[in-house]
Amino acid sequence: MDIKTKDYPKQYRQIWEEVREAIDRVLLGDAPILGAEVERFEKELATFHEVPHAIGVGSGTAALTLAMRALDIGAGHEVITCAHTFTGVLSAILEVGATPVLVEPDPVSLLLTVEAAAAAITPRTRAVLAVHLYGHPVDATALASLCGRRNLLLLEDVAQAHGARWRGRPLGGFGAAAAMSFHPSKNLAAFGDGGAVLCRSDATAARLRVLRNLGKEDKHRFAAVAPNSKLDTLQAAILRVRLRHLEDGIERRRSHARVYQERLEGVGDLALPVEHPEARHAWHLFVVRTAHREGLRKHLAGRGIGTGLHYPIAAHRQPAIAERLGELRLPRTEELADRVLTLPLSYEHEREEIERVATEVRAFFGNR
Ligand SMILES: *Cc1c(COP(=O)(O)O)cnc(C)c1O
Repeated sequence: MDIKTKDYPKQYRQIWEEVREAIDRVLLGDAPILGAEVERFEKELATFHEVPHAIGVGSGTAALTLAMRALDIGAGHEVITCAHTFTGVLSAILEVGATPVLVEPDPVSLLLTVEAAAAAITPRTRAVLAVHLYGHPVDATALASLCGRRNLLLLEDVAQAHGARWRGRPLGGFGAAAAMSFHPSKNLAAFGDGGAVLCRSDATAARLRVLRNLGKEDKHRFAAVAPNSKLDTLQAAILRVRLRHLEDGIERRRSHARVYQERLEGVGDLALPVEHPEARHAWHLFVVRTAHREGLRKHLAGRGIGTGLHYPIAAHRQPAIAERLGELRLPRTEELADRVLTLPLSYEHEREEIERVATEVRAFFGNR
């Protein structure tokens, strides 16, 4: 492919001196597990998101399961979330013994709405899990006030939305806890797996530090049965470098998104993503919808342009989930699975590459 969806070596070449300096510093001067570098990263991450605590863990999925465990969400509880989502979100809910209650997304934002969440509340509902999918914030203030009124916990999944804001505030501080992923594909990325939980409560933060570390309260005392899921020290050192470049990266993503929005408006049957006036979109993914997805994807591939699918199988139709939740009919979500197509958009792309993709999309629909 001439224009890939991601170019990891290019990402690292751009910041190589800083990354090498960080790796040298850690390997020659820090503890191999946890240590100063993890603590510094946690502080910087918390400051960036304007919350008191960040706890580094092994992955975004671990961040979800550990956050739910720290908040005592488990067997007998329902967790409301949007059906149009990454399947791992539902696996995490099932993993802690709770039941995901799936609602259809808003037809424009493709996100969880406060109306859909409110309509799905039952006496067993314990939490609402809001995923800021593709990097666009949900209406976090409305969901937080719904949860406040109905005595539910609000959880945020910020895996795709580092750097996004809702009404001027960074995501991750609107609920009881927020889960982040630093998977290499995300806006804030490690060279491998990593994740974090953000929270406001000192007690929740203290529980999370025990739960990520085999349940150990101190060196020899185990207070909980828990996994070993710490953020790697070397990843923390790399993430500190990358956090310093996150804002610039988001600005580049935003300028690329504007190119697509200007050049693809009204082209064929394309439905373009929309940024809510009160939101700052982090543009993790630029996802269009079209009834001609397979043709467009082939046309672009034939011209050396890679595309992605987020996601081609609705989560409730995945065998692992269907086995647990039974057969659900969610027509809007199912139609999205057939229509979504992700165009290349990352900060390491050049503007000319984005323009070339737009030109080829227009050519496919016969608009030159
Ligand atoms: C990537 C992702 C996760 C899982 O993160 P991992 O670090 O891969 O475990 C969870 N939720 C969403 C929305 C994601 O995009």
